[in-house]
Amino acid sequence: MKITLLGTGTPLPDQHKFGTSTLIEAGGMRVLLDCGRGAVVRLAQLGVPIGSIDAVLFSHFHSDHYAALPDVVMTGAIPAPWGGRKRRLRVIGPEGVREVIEGLWAFTSADRTIRVADGEIDPDRHRIDVGVISEGVMLEENGLRIIAFEVDHGEFVKPAFGFRVEYGGHVFVHSHDTRYSENLIAHAAGADVIVHEVAMARHETLERDPHSRTVLEHHITPREVASVFAKVRPKVAILTHLILKAPDPPSIEELLEEVGRGYDQPLFVARDLTVIRFGASITIYSGETARG
Ligand SMILES: [Zn+2]
Ligand SMILES: [Zn+2]
Repeated sequence: MKITLLGTGTPLPDQHKFGTSTLIEAGGMRVLLDCGRGAVVRLAQLGVPIGSIDAVLFSHFHSDHYAALPDVVMTGAIPAPWGGRKRRLRVIGPEGVREVIEGLWAFTSADRTIRVADGEIDPDRHRIDVGVISEGVMLEENGLRIIAFEVDHGEFVKPAFGFRVEYGGHVFVHSHDTRYSENLIAHAAGADVIVHEVAMARHETLERDPHSRTVLEHHITPREVASVFAKVRPKVAILTHLILKAPDPPSIEELLEEVGRGYDQPLFVARDLTVIRFGASITIYSGETARG
């Protein structure tokens, strides 16, 4: 199993950190967990045709986690080496996903009309098989198993999910966006690798800026994420989706210092295109030529 963190950012537009998206490759399957801004560009950097994605699972519907879906659908349908979808895309998401997909059908109609008239695509290439997530096994095929579990991303983002991915005796867990969640800890039992979000702001920022308080209330603190890692005891712990609130944002060093007060094992900070390869050993490397 090979997992690539395509996007490790937040809604903040950043050329180095695209929206959250993770590519799972196992058992001949290619699955995306979320597809935030720029996912299609990261796939192209890897040489993965957009049309080869079998399914997309969504954790929740904040823009930084699903903005690239129209791009995956429309660009993936183009009969080029980097597109070339041969069958319907499967999309599985929280309650509300049917409305998202209905809206997408309308949104993509202008492109579809032109390309169908040109004989470029079959309109069915824009159609999507939709599924609604609930807690439990959401995909099981060719030995790959993806289990959704509820996390706590605040009272108006319900339900929101994290994912546990199992293949060949290995376990990968991605928190997606959440506050401290006992349910995540329970579902992360035995994880080889856990990727978890984190957020940090200075007291002065929180006092002066009500919006930063709202944002921070939806996410986990460095001390809390340390406690999650200490309880799960994964072989590898990785931080992603770092929210370091401006102005005067805390540095990554300050963040790691805080996490280190409650977790004394090695810790990685994810970058876009970080690859996690599961085999006899777990290998982590990064770079846009990773596939070569
Ligand atoms: Zn997010
Ligand atoms: Zn979110």
